[in-house]
Parts: sequence; structure tokens; C-alpha cells
Amino acid sequence: MLEYQAQADALKGKIILITGAGSGIGRSAARHYAQYGATIILLGRTTAKLEQVYDEIVAAGGAEPAIVPLDMKGATEQNYQDMAQTILEQFGKLDGLLLNASILGAVTPFEQLELETFNEVMQVNVTAQFAMTKSLLPVLRLAPKASIIFTSSGVGRHGRAYWGAYAISKFATEGMMETLADELAGTNVRANCINPGATRTKMRATAFPAEDPQTLKTGDDLMPTYLYLMSDDSIDVNGQSLDAQPKR
Ligand code: NDP
Repeated sequence: MLEYQAQADALKGKIILITGAGSGIGRSAARHYAQYGATIILLGRTTAKLEQVYDEIVAAGGAEPAIVPLDMKGATEQNYQDMAQTILEQFGKLDGLLLNASILGAVTPFEQLELETFNEVMQVNVTAQFAMTKSLLPVLRLAPKASIIFTSSGVGRHGRAYWGAYAISKFATEGMMETLADELAGTNVRANCINPGATRTKMRATAFPAEDPQTLKTGDDLMPTYLYLMSDDSIDVNGQSLDAQPKR
């Protein structure tokens, strides 16, 4: 998918919410989606990082983004419903939802994985994504064509020793996407997954501290797949799990 080239105005007029938009792959997606014409709702837990991405988008000539500081660890269903209501009032619809934020938890043997860590990873990576998606579906249905993108991982398809809660949460993410996509079939909303593959970010450096980051693709390198699934070029794609780096 890396060879896909989006039209310059591929996302013109679209309203797109990105979780974890302040850094890593989410930041790359926010800047690229804005560059291709979208208005971005930047959601994350660290306001200063979101403000920096806001400034980068505006400096590059993009539409003024909205900032939603929210910690998905503690957020309630009511928080997501309030957010959906605000999006409805301010924008009248939501065309795209990129569920990108997640946490790694601990890379550790199964027996040593603390229940508290397990619950925290499942809360942020699975439960919060379910509650957010459920709350936003009514505003997504108001868009002519809407795209939901979940973020998977190689360990969400094949379990790997020591990847504990993170791997389990990514299997759940694939399952959530497939279940939702099957329900959405034939509607104006579609749902798919992207597995980014090894990417030069803080999360990857935490998981593989001895690895040379220069050997890895950057978030920007992955953007053809992210642009494809968010643009109308993928309107017939539903229930798929795509690799942003086929060879990783
Ligand atoms: P990073 O850790 O670099 O960035 C994650 C983002 O999510 C950050 O902006 C972070 O905010 C935000 N976030 C984390 N917890 C919360 C929370 N509780 N509430 C709100 N926002 C939160 O990760 P990557 O960019 O590497 O990963 C992006 C996605 O890609 C993830 O879903 C990851 O699992 C997946 N992935 C990444 C791979 C890689 O090699 N990098 C490989 C396979 C999958 P803050 O900056 O404030 O902490």
C-alpha cells in the first residue's frame, strides 16, 4: 500500500478525529490529513503536545484544528457522549475516526503481568475505544461517507511471548473491528484496521530499547495507507486489516 498517492484534495471538507494525535503515528496522520484538506479534531492526554501539532498544522496552511484534551484511561461513556454532542453542534457530522492511541503496558512473562497493568491496557486499548466509537456512531452516520480506522499490530494476529496485555488488546481490537464492520456492511460507515508495522516512535523505542531507530520507517512513511483508508478511494473497503508496511 506504500505506493498509493492520494489526490491533493482527497480529504477536503472532511472532519476527522484522531486519538493520540500529539505524537508518534497520530501526529503524522494529523498533519497529513490536514494537508489533504481535512479539519482535524486532535485528541490526546497531553495538551502541550496537541497544541504543538495545532501550530504545525496552522503554520502549514491547514484548517484550524480543534483540541480535545482527554485521558482515555479515566474517561467515562458520558465524556464520549458529550464529545459527540459538541462535534454535532460545531461541525454537524464526523467523516473520520482514527483510533490510534494505545499503551504498551509491560513487556513481561505472563505470570508476572500485574492485573492492574492488564486492566489499564485493556481500559485504554479496548474499552475506551469501544465507548468512544459507540458514542460517535450517530455523528459518523451523518457524514456522506465515513471511515473508522482501528490500529492493530502484528501481535494482534499472532501472539508472541511476553507481549501480554498489549497483544491480547490488539486481538480484541481486530475482533471489535470485524464485529462492527459486519454490522455496518451496506451503510455509509465503514470500519477497518491498520497494522503500522515497526515504526520509529516512543512506543517502539520503549519496547525495543537496543534497536537503532534509524533502521525503522517513520510515521510519515506510513501515510499512504492512512490516507487511502480515510479517503473516498476506499469506500468499498470494509472489515479489512491492512498492513502499512507489507514486508514488516
Ligand atoms: P506512541 O506511544 O508514540 O504514541 C501514542 C499516542 O497515544 C500518544 O500521543 C499518547 O499521548 C496517546 N495516548 C496514550 N495513552 C493515552 C490515553 N490514556 N489517553 C489519550 N491518549 C493516550 O505510539 P505509536 O505512535 O508508536 O503508536 C500508535 C499506534 O500504533 C498504537 O495503537 C500502537 O499500538 C500502534 N503500533 C505501533 C507500532 C510501532 O512500531 N510504533 C507497531 C504496531 C502498532 P501522550 O503523548 O500524551 O502520551
